[in-house]
Amino acid sequence: MPHRVFNFSAGPATLPAPVLRQAQAELLDWHGLGVSVAEISHRSAPFIELAAEAEADLRTLLSVPDDYAVLFMQGGATLQQALIPLNFAAPGQAADYLVTGHWGQTALKQARPCVDARVAASGAESGFREVPARGEWRLSGDAAYLHVTANETIHGVELRERIEADAPVFADFSSSIASEPVEVRDYGLIYAGAQKNLGPSGIAVVIIRRALLARAGQPRAEILAYASHAARDSMLNTPPTFNWYLLGLCLKWMLAEGGVEAFGQRNAARAARLYAAIDGSGGFYRNEVAPAVRSRMNVPFFLHAAELDAEFLRQAGERQLIGLKGHKVVGGMRASLYNALPDAAVDALIDFMREFQKTHG
Ligand code: PLP
Repeated sequence: MPHRVFNFSAGPATLPAPVLRQAQAELLDWHGLGVSVAEISHRSAPFIELAAEAEADLRTLLSVPDDYAVLFMQGGATLQQALIPLNFAAPGQAADYLVTGHWGQTALKQARPCVDARVAASGAESGFREVPARGEWRLSGDAAYLHVTANETIHGVELRERIEADAPVFADFSSSIASEPVEVRDYGLIYAGAQKNLGPSGIAVVIIRRALLARAGQPRAEILAYASHAARDSMLNTPPTFNWYLLGLCLKWMLAEGGVEAFGQRNAARAARLYAAIDGSGGFYRNEVAPAVRSRMNVPFFLHAAELDAEFLRQAGERQLIGLKGHKVVGGMRASLYNALPDAAVDALIDFMREFQKTHG
């Protein structure tokens, strides 16, 4: 079996090795049908069963209440950012956005053409190193919803407090879904591109309080209407069947690994180990995010001298630690610690960081 490197990529991210092995084993002959799962109709009984099982597994994994619909949508999280205002706000109606990093800004940008998108609060002044205190948020009385980003993948900022607002809270969970238990009822809508914690890119999961599907929203084609997708079990048109299949395997893997409770404990512990290594390096490495909102999933960090970046990445690569280059918006390094990344990867990274500091400190 070929050795797999430790992949810290922010997304598309590492997938569980057992999932890839299973997909490989059944690639040419799925369920004894003599064809790949990618070659059968989404209207066929075996695929409809696969889809129903994926929904049931997602509901179990995230404890999704019955009065919430679960959708598997084509396209990524950005498409959901554009669909949300179309579906849930009347033309020109106010919608509030809490902007805690790059992806909050993107969501705001997608909404601007069709709603009165308002910045309730922004961490921009702190360089997105802090989240504005709740007392500083300016929420509109007439907002269709409040949009938040549960985890900012690029800036490494995670909302850790329960968000309460009069308007339903819509949350981008792309990079932290299934990383720990979540109280779905706290949200009107949760969405996530799959390519970090749930599977491959090209498919997104949307969890919506059913009552919200009755909102008129804005004039739009049927293909852009969440209610239509919900009414047709996410098969309004040809869905990304292979991605759906892989996502389903990832869900089964997460359930078998102990579910979100187990991942929650594991993810908190290993992120804490990495932050402790950074903070304890005497300034050789640094993470600039306020400790209370540091992300458990994406850990951006800087070396004390940027001239060392290339050498750090080269030596990391030699040790089979890949995907550590920071996003161009912030620079430096970033280690993404999603569910499918083994604990051994985090420990190997910490060991390497200590060794690198010894030789370059
Ligand atoms: N939101 C968050 C938190 C993300 O991390 C990303 C992608 O990295 C996106 C949105 C955009 O996702 P997509 O590329 O699937 O449209």
